[in-house]
Amino acid sequence: MAGKDLTTLTIKQAAAKMQAGEFTAQELTESYLAKIKERNGELNAYLEVFTDAVDQAKVIDDKRKKGEQLGDLAGIPMAIKDNILIKDRKCSSASKILENYVASYDAYVIERLKQAGVVFLGRTNMDEFAMGGSTENSAFGPTRNPHDPTRVPGGSSGGSAAAVGGGTALAALGSDTGGSIREPASFCGAVGLKPTYGAVSRRGAMAMASSLDQIGPIAKTVEDAEIIFNTIRGKDELDATNFDSENKLDVKAKLKIGVPREFVSNGLDPVVASNFSATLENLKSAGHELVDIELPSFKYALACYYVTMFAESSTNLARFDGLRYGVQVSGQDLLGDYEETRGAGFGPEVRRRVILGTYVLSAGYADEYYYKAAGVRRLIKADYTRVFKEVDAIITPTAPGPAYKIGEKIGDPLAMYLEDIFTVPVNLGGVPALAVPSGKTAEGLPLGVQFTASHGREDVLFTLGRQIETLS
Ligand code: GLN
Repeated sequence: MAGKDLTTLTIKQAAAKMQAGEFTAQELTESYLAKIKERNGELNAYLEVFTDAVDQAKVIDDKRKKGEQLGDLAGIPMAIKDNILIKDRKCSSASKILENYVASYDAYVIERLKQAGVVFLGRTNMDEFAMGGSTENSAFGPTRNPHDPTRVPGGSSGGSAAAVGGGTALAALGSDTGGSIREPASFCGAVGLKPTYGAVSRRGAMAMASSLDQIGPIAKTVEDAEIIFNTIRGKDELDATNFDSENKLDVKAKLKIGVPREFVSNGLDPVVASNFSATLENLKSAGHELVDIELPSFKYALACYYVTMFAESSTNLARFDGLRYGVQVSGQDLLGDYEETRGAGFGPEVRRRVILGTYVLSAGYADEYYYKAAGVRRLIKADYTRVFKEVDAIITPTAPGPAYKIGEKIGDPLAMYLEDIFTVPVNLGGVPALAVPSGKTAEGLPLGVQFTASHGREDVLFTLGRQIETLS
């Protein structure tokens, strides 16, 4: 089978074929390495391709030869976002300040994937410290959309999504603070899951905004995303917000889906609007009940998210002072050292957010901004609580438009932030959401819808996601 392109298979299919002896993990990995060689020069999805990927695969093949019982992820080649620590490998968050930083331990999710036998292909490009929605904020050049290289792949997990959408990884991990798994998955034609806050341990993920961050899978299919989620979830004593989210509830065959008509009516690209209507029709004909819902506080979600995230990320990034990690540039005195190091190490978007975060937390302004945002966040949570008494899931488009041109929004941060309108409420509410492909534009750009469910109900999301895959 050597030399054959194996990169079209899903995790489930590849696992079955390896189990049946049709090809080895080494051959599967070599197939992906060949694809990376062919496409990564253009896409820039990977910041680094690991030179020992084939050796990792051989270890799995040996285990299989010895008759060891292996799970679905054994020998599956995955890509990892560059803000998730893998012991003894570089991890830079696509920032100059951490360009040569080497991780001293494995993130919890990496421990789990290693136990499952995953082959790590490399680390993927992203917006610096996950701040952005296009991967143009990387210190190492933008990633390009595999469906149209003149366009962005979305962000901040743009490298992971472009790798999966472009066939250079079978699946990937991303992180999502305000949409960074779901938006790029949608732009690249992949499935992306933002788990319930606390369902997946954050240990070993570089913190952006700790009350919003979650790690999750980007995959080709809903089934593959579910396999990865079930592997990386679970109780970790070292993340105090983590809980054991395993639930064994029944998902009804016919679900009640809430459509927030007013919330989704503003600023939609016409092609997204018509795709969204068609998706609603499909769900109706599949027997689900659609009901109109109101989410009155969601109009404040973007403002609430950006104040909260600025505040938390400016605090989290205080540790990059030139003394503890990474780059160090000397100034006149201690304050000068900080200023020179942070000025040289951080890119413009990171500096903007640190400055704004410090501002909204400073004495005199914290009441006006930070605490007000905390109050609004409670209202948004209350909207979810009320609505999930009535419906099983909420549906919206994932993003207001398809992937846009590289350079189109980079000079206008507000236009960039508006792209996050449908994804940020989910992180503020701590609820899970799944982005699923729902069709393409006439030019072949992927479109997607997002399902949101109540805490711990990823099972509802997977059920609906699988149906969309067959309907659209
Ligand atoms: N695009 C959003 C932002 O710029 C989301 C980022 C994220 O989820 N990491 O903040």
